[in-house]
Amino acid sequence: MYHVASKVPLETPRCGSRRHLDKPRVPEVRPGYQLCTTCLDDVENTLVDLPDWYVEHGRPPRAGLDEVVSDVVDVLSAWCAVVVAQRGVPAPEPPTVELLTGFLAVHMQWLTARPTAAEFADDLMFLDQRDATADGSEEVA
Ligand SMILES: [Zn+2]
Repeated sequence: MYHVASKVPLETPRCGSRRHLDKPRVPEVRPGYQLCTTCLDDVENTLVDLPDWYVEHGRPPRAGLDEVVSDVVDVLSAWCAVVVAQRGVPAPEPPTVELLTGFLAVHMQWLTARPTAAEFADDLMFLDQRDATADGSEEVA
């Protein structure tokens, strides 16, 4: 052990999301969370929007292959399993995109306050990259 508290001022931790890797400055986390405000908003929006995208398109925004649908369920289920295991709550049944995202939304504050928050945010943002679509074909007129 060494004493750092008296010499080094406590710095607010930086957001750990991969989205900031190529940015000159990584934002600080929002107090009480392990993510910055931007990432927290994106996580929340993704959880809200993802089910609608399934209803409308039958697949996630950026997916070009059918198997991506099951990938999304796998990713969502994996994080639900973390909540189930550590909070002792029942898992959503059946594990549909709608129920899984709703479940994660309920437990979002808990998930985003944990050390794995950045991993959670990155997983979700990978599923919902409408804003980053290269061909700009996010809207079908
Ligand atoms: Zn962030």
